[in-house]
Amino acid sequence: MSFVSVAIDGPAGAGKSTIARAVAAQLGYLYVDTGAIYRTVGLAVRRQDADPHDNASVIPLLDGLSVELRIEPDGIQHMYLNGEDVTRPIREPEIAMYASAVSALPQVRAFLLEMQQSLARTQNVVMDGRDIGTVVLPDATVKIFLTASPEIRARRRWKEQQERGNGESYDQVLQEVLQRDDQDTHRAVAPLRQAEDAVLVDTSELDLEESISAILEIVKECASHERGAGEAGEKVPLPHGKAVQTLVPCGL
Ligand code: C5P
Repeated sequence: MSFVSVAIDGPAGAGKSTIARAVAAQLGYLYVDTGAIYRTVGLAVRRQDADPHDNASVIPLLDGLSVELRIEPDGIQHMYLNGEDVTRPIREPEIAMYASAVSALPQVRAFLLEMQQSLARTQNVVMDGRDIGTVVLPDATVKIFLTASPEIRARRRWKEQQERGNGESYDQVLQEVLQRDDQDTHRAVAPLRQAEDAVLVDTSELDLEESISAILEIVKECASHERGAGEAGEKVPLPHGKAVQTLVPCGL
């Protein structure tokens, strides 16, 4: 039996996790946040006071490191580091930078690859990350590249942090977004890029509901047309009268 996989890639702050979680809930699929897996390794490196950019300090730590992803009975993904539930501490802003740095190391990516692939082998999934459509699930049923301008992404992230009581300024958050974009797109291994057969969705002008509808629409289109979402350049109409440009037919 083959399962449906929806790969959602894109830069930090494009709204991937919120949107992917909602899309998965509507479709009744498992939502997998792969960023959380890299954050768990980032936290392990932080706790060891190791330099996350330095292969020689990170690689020895991988031996004997247990990173586990468990879907708890409420359907929520929890991350475990050496048996400890670290779902909360991995959300600290500092850990994002550690995750971004360690994720550039090929040994770290190889260490985490099978864990991600095995989840899509046994159930329908919506998986979000940076290299899901290009490396982890190159045969994903539907591939989406979700993006928005750096300023809009920084503003959204800043608002989220304000609501959680974190006091970074907007300019600081923008610098972090730009730095992470730079690290994620310029690394040698599995850099962030749009898969050739991914549909580009720019959420700069879309609110959350519109973004979710856009993706559900694309998944529906992909599932109902043998040829996929349409010819290059065709627009997928949205309920709100806006349209998402599809660059290439999706991969069914
Ligand atoms: O998505 P999130 O912001 O939680 O990811 C944290 C970091 O993990 C990203 O900046 C990126 O460097 C890395 N990552 C990755 N590949 C993925 C998911 C996340 O390299 N599939």
